[in-house]
Amino acid sequence: MSIPTEPVGSLPRPAKLQAAIADYDAGKITKEELKVEQDAACKDSIERMEATGAPIVSDGEQRASSFATYPLADTLAGTGLADNLAGDGQYFAIFTDGHHRQLPRLTGGPFKYKTYAADYLKEAMKMAHKPLKQAVIAPSMLSLLYPLDGEIEGYTREQFLEDLVNECEKDIRQCFEVGAERVSIDFTEGRLACRNDPNNPWTGRRMLEQFVELNNRVIDRFSPEERKNIGIHTCPGGDCDSTHSADVDYADMLPSMFKMNAGYFLIQLASESDKERVYQLCGEHSRADANGVPQVCFIGVINPLNPTVETPEQVRDDLVTAAKYIPVERLGSTDDCGFSPFSIDVKPKHGSPDYARDIAFQKIESRVKGTAMASEQLGVVGATIADTAGRD
Ligand SMILES: [Zn+2]
Repeated sequence: MSIPTEPVGSLPRPAKLQAAIADYDAGKITKEELKVEQDAACKDSIERMEATGAPIVSDGEQRASSFATYPLADTLAGTGLADNLAGDGQYFAIFTDGHHRQLPRLTGGPFKYKTYAADYLKEAMKMAHKPLKQAVIAPSMLSLLYPLDGEIEGYTREQFLEDLVNECEKDIRQCFEVGAERVSIDFTEGRLACRNDPNNPWTGRRMLEQFVELNNRVIDRFSPEERKNIGIHTCPGGDCDSTHSADVDYADMLPSMFKMNAGYFLIQLASESDKERVYQLCGEHSRADANGVPQVCFIGVINPLNPTVETPEQVRDDLVTAAKYIPVERLGSTDDCGFSPFSIDVKPKHGSPDYARDIAFQKIESRVKGTAMASEQLGVVGATIADTAGRD
């Protein structure tokens, strides 16, 4: 075996694709015409990610409106919104640069996904030559579709949560059926739940524990063998090169996060000010046995919000330091976050989304090379792609 390495999932959408999305929202092009651009962007994303040497790749989420809204709408502007939803839901995140992102609002039941991640993955499978991973959204994020207070007439909160858990389970199962090697659940709202921002009411309600319980309602439906390849991603947000909860102390969140019975965790870490302290927290709170699976900690070694490309040596050194605190058989590497979790993102610190794509592939290559160097230094060599992708 060797130290495994895996991306979170997204890449910036090319400027041409972002323009096509705007044209689709304006009714200037058809869905089929939009799909031509999405196909091209996915193909380019997969080919270039494969060329980095990465053992497992993604389609860059080029078809998704965002990591959170892909089941609900075709575009971030709300074109093709699913049934029983209105556009004016609550903010789920207010970012440090002042911009915010909003969820739709549930108006009635039943709650049903309009698009499953596997719908995208099916298309990606035709283009890929390496194992693919797929990211899905956590039930905890989508639980925010239901009004914070009160009940929707004729559709209780518990009825909604039951529908939601069923849909999330289906979303994950379909990914594996279509051929995903790994499925990770985006849990950006975990850290934000500890923030208590008066401008964003849900963050002041101490919802972290209920998020963890809700997510376990889905995760616990899978066998230990399946959960080896089901992950959780945590981060302080990443959109327009800005974060939403980097000021929250990881010590407030990580102990709860590791209560989820997932087999691996993709943990933002490269952009932390005191990485060693967080490695220590991961070592202390991750479990060697989470109801039958060991929890593997994939530490973030790449910062997708910063255009400076990390060197392979930096990546190696981070992993070697982390191995002082996290058992090496439960250590992996990842990027801090997706490179563009939202489809419309000009990547302001990079200057353009197309340039940010070039940078992203260079960063992924550094992650791959640096992880191989760390494997050698730590004496875990003899990698096969199957091992690093979690196959037996
Ligand atoms: Zn993230």
